[in-house]
Amino acid sequence: MNKIPVGVLGATGMVGQNYIALLNDHPWFEVRFVAASPRSAGKKYKEAVDGRWQLARAYTPSVGELVVADANDVSQARAAAKAGSCAFVFSALEMGKDEIRALEDSYAAAGIPVISNASAHRWTDDVPVLISEVNPHHADIIPAQRKKRGWDKGFIAVKPNCSIQSYTTPVYALIRAGYEIKRLIVTTMQAVSGAGYPGPASIDMIDNVVPYIGGEEEKSEQEPLKILGAIEGGAFVNAAFPKISAHCNRVPVIDGHTACVSLEFGDRKPSIEEVKRIWADFKSLPQELNLPMAPKQPIIIREENNRPQPRKDRDADKAMAVSVGRIRPCNIFDLRFVGLSHNTVRGAAGGGILNAELLKSKGYIS
Ligand code: NAP
Repeated sequence: MNKIPVGVLGATGMVGQNYIALLNDHPWFEVRFVAASPRSAGKKYKEAVDGRWQLARAYTPSVGELVVADANDVSQARAAAKAGSCAFVFSALEMGKDEIRALEDSYAAAGIPVISNASAHRWTDDVPVLISEVNPHHADIIPAQRKKRGWDKGFIAVKPNCSIQSYTTPVYALIRAGYEIKRLIVTTMQAVSGAGYPGPASIDMIDNVVPYIGGEEEKSEQEPLKILGAIEGGAFVNAAFPKISAHCNRVPVIDGHTACVSLEFGDRKPSIEEVKRIWADFKSLPQELNLPMAPKQPIIIREENNRPQPRKDRDADKAMAVSVGRIRPCNIFDLRFVGLSHNTVRGAAGGGILNAELLKSKGYIS
């Protein structure tokens, strides 16, 4: 099969490098276009990341030879699309929100679908925020989005904040099994790679925990409600529940966001055994479609009383699975657990690639 040529915007950054590495031997997609800031533009990719490549996996020699485009200049991507080397782009740009929103709109208007990691469009009412196992049906707003904006081939789909899959996927599995969840308190312990390269200063992080990440608590509290919400009249309407209260902390871990969760059910309350059964059996559309990036088991239960841990569990099932443990009753709410997922893979590039696979399977990317 001829692979679909893809572009990566922000290809030199933390998330962009993960896209490049994960797409090395992807069965459907091949990186043929890379773009970043004017600082990197005009250099070969291997020169632009020289001394700042962060991953154990290398990029392929052919990607190393690609000349980095200026992501602000959509005409370069348009030319690449015309030449057959950019059917859609993954966006991993770190810029001002308004700039990213305008830029992603320009790519979509130029007929280039955008699958984004940036938060800029997460609250746009016709843009789906996809966790492929949770709300794959939200992709079906794309025809309405295209119609409203006058786009023919282009569209924008985004993925949520990097920490929320560690609790939103287990919460969704319980809701899908028929259990209402009223309230939820989550305390996250988030890795430094979540702040991009070079991240927080080492002197702030070594021997320390920082109990503040700008904007993160709002995202952790509100994004799950859009993901659990519905499409009404071509726009998203948030779910009313669960009410979420989040405490977000930056901790001296390289990769892997951990979430300690307490939740309260509605009138029907499952037993601990039932919760474990629901999570162990949970499968969704990506597993049914056998998508290449999909974890075989989206939620992995750790029975040891000291797991999950970032170093031991973040790479579970291609770093795409959510690991949960310490599943036990809560003295104030009903249930407590610890969830963990890899922030730059499941929470960023891997999640974006899985979304692209889903969108291709649904016929939105060709
Ligand atoms: P990063 O390491 O700082 O990388 C930023 C990228 O954006 C680089 O390629 C950079 O190019 C490019 N860029 C910066 N300024 C630009 C400009 N003015 N014009 C064009 N390109 C510009 O950031 P990151 O952690 O990879 O994050 C990328 C995006 O993903 C952000 O929106 C972030 O919020 C989101 N995200 C991150 C994570 C995570 O775990 N890190 C998870 C989920 C979502 P140069 O190299 O040329 O400067």
